[in-house]
Amino acid sequence: MADNVQAPALAAFKGETAILELPDSLYDEVTPAQFPQSVLRWRNDRAAHQIGLANLDDARWIAHFARFEPLPGSLATPLALRYHGHQFRTYNPDIGDGRGFLYAQMRDGAGRLMDFGTKGSGRTPWSRFGDGRLTLKGAVREILATEMLEALGVETSRSLSVIETGEALERGDEPSPTRSAVLVRLSHGHIRIGTFQRLAYLRDSETMQAVVAYVLRHFYGEDAGDDAPARLLDHVVARTARLAASYMAAGFVHGVLNTDNINVTGESFDYGPWRFTPRWDPAFTAAYFDHGGLYAFGRQPEAMHWNCMQLAVALRTVSEAPPLIEVLDRFAERYQAEVTQALLWRLGVIPLGGEQDRGVIEAIERGLGTTAMPIDRFFHEAFGGSAPAGFDDLRALLAAYRPRRARDHAHWNGPVCGMAIDEVEAIWSPIAERDDWAPFHAKIAAVRALGEALGPRTEPAGIA
Ligand code: AMP
Ligand code: MG
Repeated sequence: MADNVQAPALAAFKGETAILELPDSLYDEVTPAQFPQSVLRWRNDRAAHQIGLANLDDARWIAHFARFEPLPGSLATPLALRYHGHQFRTYNPDIGDGRGFLYAQMRDGAGRLMDFGTKGSGRTPWSRFGDGRLTLKGAVREILATEMLEALGVETSRSLSVIETGEALERGDEPSPTRSAVLVRLSHGHIRIGTFQRLAYLRDSETMQAVVAYVLRHFYGEDAGDDAPARLLDHVVARTARLAASYMAAGFVHGVLNTDNINVTGESFDYGPWRFTPRWDPAFTAAYFDHGGLYAFGRQPEAMHWNCMQLAVALRTVSEAPPLIEVLDRFAERYQAEVTQALLWRLGVIPLGGEQDRGVIEAIERGLGTTAMPIDRFFHEAFGGSAPAGFDDLRALLAAYRPRRARDHAHWNGPVCGMAIDEVEAIWSPIAERDDWAPFHAKIAAVRALGEALGPRTEPAGIA
């Protein structure tokens, strides 16, 4: 009956249950929290269109994304995923989905396996002393991060839904009591490096082989086989090198690049204390608790490489070392290629290859360092290949380059669009003070215009 009622609205939605192919020791069935209130604050209609959910009315939307009534063809019960991870380089076997779960899976229009992951949906066996909740401010921050990263060509989870849930939360890093929300993310899988670390810790090679095969099949379109672990690592090295490079070109600092926050598809996710660095400052840190600057702006490629090493260590459970070491060694070379691509893409010019491109990116970094020009301003002025004042050596080098796209979008005649912390706070304050969401919506519109002006960057990871 319920399915019949939903059918017309969800005709294009292709529910999936691929995760159920895996041993059930990887997850726990959980019950979502029941919230006193559900006020729809954000529905990502752009994303909803792409996955066949645009026709849901708000009441059905809330039924799915606050009460977690099953989506047709997908999971009957949400699953809290089990994983471990290195947190700031210390191994922690006590984590897992503590305030989120895998709510549903589906195939998007391109045939990619997509997960609906939640944050703030209630307690699970992995909550430890936590309340299983998310603050509204945390949810708003995640929307802002994902929208900005998407515009800047970074492969990221998308924020599909935010519903305010009417609870009063106590938090050390926000004036409390503070408002609560439940977030639903749309991501290209979210098997983490920490998923493999847990299986290595348990010496469960059988389950690890199954997870290797799952990731290769669903995210990389390949069959398993003898060299499956090394092939998987090779993909993860390639995708995370690309992700680290995209962070640099975006000026983004994730803040918590722990192994449990690294998706093996190389898609960025789980946004907590993130910040955009206003200037090219390698030492800029996002998290107030990152005292040693482990995840500082300029240390993100190294952090990602270290995380790949932990995946290699875990994969020793099902592979000899030499083939793993061989692919791991390619990280630096791949990162160099990717950071060149990422910076030239944002600069809006067609790469010429080799030494010439390297010269350009060195001139960009040098210029940003010496002029201290805000990164967003630099790329706004330089898009298409015109170096701003103070970048004289860059100007000379760019004479040989052609723009990859005309500078004819209205965005380029408007203000610079950035997402530095003071702007984030300036968007949050009117929401906190008087439920004024206008600055938030205006910002989303500006960010999407920036994205249109830059044009698409990413070819989808995995199966096309
Ligand atoms: P994160 O820093 O968001 O990646 O979280 C790290 C770990 O702490 C994960 O296992 C989370 O599920 C857990 N965690 C963080 N905040 C909470 C909370 N409020 N309630 C329960 N678990 C939490
Ligand atoms: Mg996390």
